[in-house]
Amino acid sequence: MMNRQGRPSAPETAGGENETTTTFTGHRGLDHDEPLIYEIGDPAVSGVDIEEVANDAPALGGLERSRPIGLAGLSEPRAVRHYTRLSRKNYAIDVGLYPLGSCTMKHNPRLNEKAARLPGFLDIHPLQPETTVQGALKLMDELRHWLQELTGMPGVALSPKAGAHGELCGLMTIRAALEAAGDAREIVLVPESAHGTNPATAAQCGYRVKAIAANDRGRVDLDAFREAIDETVAAVMLTNPNTCGLFENDIIEIAEAVHAAGAFFYCDGANFNAIMGRVRPGDLGIDAMHLNLHKTFSTPHGGGGPGSGPVVFSEALAPFQPVPWVEGEHALHLHETVGEDDTAFGRMTAFHGQMGMYVRALAFMMSHGADGLKQAAEDAVLNANYVLARLGDVMTPSFDGPCMHEALFDDRFLKDTGVSTLDFAKAMIDEGFHPMTMYFPLVVHGAMLIEPTESETKSSLDEFIETLRELVKTALAGETRRFTEAPRLAPMRRLDETRAARQPVLRWTAPEEAEAAE
Ligand SMILES: *Cc1c(COP(=O)(O)O)cnc(C)c1O
Repeated sequence: MMNRQGRPSAPETAGGENETTTTFTGHRGLDHDEPLIYEIGDPAVSGVDIEEVANDAPALGGLERSRPIGLAGLSEPRAVRHYTRLSRKNYAIDVGLYPLGSCTMKHNPRLNEKAARLPGFLDIHPLQPETTVQGALKLMDELRHWLQELTGMPGVALSPKAGAHGELCGLMTIRAALEAAGDAREIVLVPESAHGTNPATAAQCGYRVKAIAANDRGRVDLDAFREAIDETVAAVMLTNPNTCGLFENDIIEIAEAVHAAGAFFYCDGANFNAIMGRVRPGDLGIDAMHLNLHKTFSTPHGGGGPGSGPVVFSEALAPFQPVPWVEGEHALHLHETVGEDDTAFGRMTAFHGQMGMYVRALAFMMSHGADGLKQAAEDAVLNANYVLARLGDVMTPSFDGPCMHEALFDDRFLKDTGVSTLDFAKAMIDEGFHPMTMYFPLVVHGAMLIEPTESETKSSLDEFIETLRELVKTALAGETRRFTEAPRLAPMRRLDETRAARQPVLRWTAPEEAEAAE
C-alpha cells in the first residue's frame, strides 16, 4: 500500500491472520508518517523574519546567487516536529540494548557530553594561535599518555578519524618503514575471519591480500600461517580478540614468525574493550594497532557520526608515524609539518583530528581510572559469557568454550524450521529488540553475533535472553510466518535489500525535475 507521497505506508498491525488495520492517513498510533523535508517545505516560508535585502545592496563581486538555493522553508515548530518525528522512528543505545557484535555499542556517560561542551573545547578553532589553545593541546597530550600506558606502545598518532582510517594510517606507516629500509614488499596476510575493512585497507595501500584459513576452533590456523609467511610479506593484519569473539592463543608465536620474516604485525584493535587493562598489545609483539575511541572509550557512534581511530606504534614504527603530534614541556606545540630531519610519512587529515571525541574518551578514562577500565573489560566479557551460557542450550554456539566480548551463534538451531537468520533477526524487532549482527563473521553459516558490552545490567540481559528463548521455541513450533513476515510493527515493513543495494536511490528529485527529465 502506498500513501500520499507514493512511499510504502505505515505497517499493518499484527493481529489475526487476515486482520488489516491500515489507516487512511498513513499515520499510526501517535506516530506520524513523516514525508521528506523537501516534500513539506515551501521556499516562501521561513522560520525567522529577516528583512528583505534590496537588490541594489553592495555587489558581491560576481558571487551573487544566480538561482534560488532550493532549501526547504519551514516554520520553526514544523521543523522541530519534523526532526522529532524522525527521531521517534530511530533506534539508539539510549532506547535499549544494542547487541551488535563487532560494534561495541555501549552507554555514553552524560559526563563525557558535559565535558565535550565546555566552551574551551567546543568553541575553539584549529587555526587559532597555539598560545590560546594550550588546554586543548594538554588534553591531547594526556590522551596520548593514557593510550601509551594502556597499550604499552610508544608511538601514538591521534589524527585518524575512524577505525578504517586508522588501518590506512597503520599500513601507510608500515609501507614508509619498509621503503626506508629499501625493502618495499607486496603482500599482506589477512585471516578469513577479518573485518572487511582489513583486506580493503591493504588493497587500498596497493598490497596483494592473501587470506589465512581459520581452524575449527575459530582461530588462525598456525600451520597455514607459517606456510604463508615469508620475505615477500609486508605485514599481517590480525584482530585480537578476533571477530568470532575469541582470543588468538597463538599470538606470541605469530608475532615471532612475523618478525623473523622481517614483516610488521598490524593488530585491528577495535575489540580492545575486551582486554583493556588486562593485556598490553605491546607485550604481545604488535607493531601497530588502531583503537576505536568510539567503541572502547564510549563516545557515540553509528549513523555516520564522528569517529576517532588513533593508532599506536612500536619502537620500530613510531619514527614513521604521521604528523601532527603534540610536543613541548610547558608551552605545548603541535608538530604539524614534516621537517628535513623527520621520517614521518606525511599526514592523514587537514588538522589534528576529532577534538570532541578526544574529550569524551579522556573523560571516560579519567572517570573510570585504570582499575575501572579493567573492570569494564572484565564485565563486558562476563556479560557476553552469560549470554552464551544462557542461550547455548537452545541456539547453537559456533565454537566450544567461553568467549571474550561477544557470543557467536550459527543457524543450525533453525534447521528445517523455514526460518533464516534474517527472519529471526526481523522477528526480534517486533519484540522490541534491535537485532544482533547477522551473517558476520563469514566463517560460520548464518552467523548471529551478540555483543552486550559492560553497560548492560543482568536484568536487561535476562529480558533479552528470555525473548530470544521464546522466539526459538516459536520457530521450532512451526510459527514460521511470525518470522518470515516480520517486522510487522516497525515503522517500515521488510525492505527489498537486494534492490536497495543494486538500484540505490541516493538523491531526492523534485517532481518538476523528474518530469523535465522524462
Ligand atoms: C568497527 C570495526 C572496524 C572499523 O572501524 P570504523 O570506525 O567503523 O571505521 C574495523 N575492524 C573491526 C574489528 C571493527 O569492529
